[in-house]
Amino acid sequence: MVRNDYESIRELFAKNVVPSYGRFELVLSHGAGSYVYDVAGKRYLDLGTGIAVCCLGHAHPAITEALVEQSKKLIHVSNLYFTEPQGRLAAEIVKRIGDGKVFFCNSGAEANEGLYKLARKFGHDEGRFEILTATNSFHGRTLAGIAATGQDKVKKGFEPAVTGFRHITFNDLEAARNAISPATIAILIEGVQGEGGVTPATPAYLLGLRQLCDEKKMLLLMDGVQCGHYRTGKFQSFQRILEGVPGGDQFLPDGLSMAKSLGGGFPIGAFWARAPFANLLSAGTHGTTYGGTPLACAVALKILEVIQQEKLDEQARKLGAGLKSEIERLAKSYPAVVKSARGMGFILGIELAEKIPAFAASDKTPALQFVNRLHATGVLTVPAGNQIVRLLPPLNLKAKEAGEGISIIEEVVKSLA
Ligand SMILES: *Cc1c(COP(=O)(O)O)cnc(C)c1O
Repeated sequence: MVRNDYESIRELFAKNVVPSYGRFELVLSHGAGSYVYDVAGKRYLDLGTGIAVCCLGHAHPAITEALVEQSKKLIHVSNLYFTEPQGRLAAEIVKRIGDGKVFFCNSGAEANEGLYKLARKFGHDEGRFEILTATNSFHGRTLAGIAATGQDKVKKGFEPAVTGFRHITFNDLEAARNAISPATIAILIEGVQGEGGVTPATPAYLLGLRQLCDEKKMLLLMDGVQCGHYRTGKFQSFQRILEGVPGGDQFLPDGLSMAKSLGGGFPIGAFWARAPFANLLSAGTHGTTYGGTPLACAVALKILEVIQQEKLDEQARKLGAGLKSEIERLAKSYPAVVKSARGMGFILGIELAEKIPAFAASDKTPALQFVNRLHATGVLTVPAGNQIVRLLPPLNLKAKEAGEGISIIEEVVKSLA
């Protein structure tokens, strides 16, 4: 390109791409490991991984090899036929969650859509269809997804909403019990709310919802799209949250959605349904052309293999605990800037103080302004709401890189104090 790459690419977007995203002023061109580079050659430590997606970082040779090798054999055949990678990936997921079956699709919203349909099918003959979801939840951007999402900002302008969703206060068991109507068929929650600001469910809430759903013959559904895939240190967040809790090892949801890190950047989504409900969606009741292609499944299988071989679950847990205590240290040292540390493993939040004087001049949210300052110093992170900055590092982040990230974050915090 003759002109400045940054300007010319921005212009292509301005002219040709639907402006539905508030994008940062960065044009990224390539990555390697935990780093990405912009078109001017500037390097960034990627602690956002494309919103919890690139779980093995960028340009991982095992992913490249899986893509190349599988693409030489078979990329796609549709679900009119059987293929080995889909069957093997389903088995690997079942092995990690519990007795049940898996449906494959292409995104998180679509995985949740499958759960809504599963719930409606389950309640259909009794006329029950309503699904309770939590305030501050996020479940995707389809029409049903925004109806399920407990945040007004995603719904505005798209009314009338898909019917059959109501919101309850997160981590409030009594609120759940009180909200149940004769039409209610399921409760859907995230194990750790991501977009809502990195809020884990409490063990008592999970166990209480399980009991409540059993009592009322309702399905307990979990959205593991962001907090799943070993980000908490266990395959699914409930396995981490309930670790060592009496009765915790008996806990299973009835359905669970996945996407994001499942494909490490190659689009794939899935939901798992517990054994008694796994056959509800019988032939012809649900489907998608691309779901579970040999290519997507080969990549996802390779990622699981690398995570297991390199013990990246333990890595995320250990380094995540270290990062969290560093954020806690920052909160102690700079209370005028950092209020608290949130989350667990590699789904962490830096909660910013309410009124940071250096941010007063701009009408951008504190989270956005903080993220922008991190960009300037070479770190990518993701805002959650107005006050929280998320760290969603690759599971194979190195200890040295975690240290580098924290010292850059501290630099920015210091400059604001
Ligand atoms: C990202 C996300 C979704 C939506 O996934 P898409 O792939 O963007 O459709 C759903 N639920 C949660 C918890 C998410 O973080």
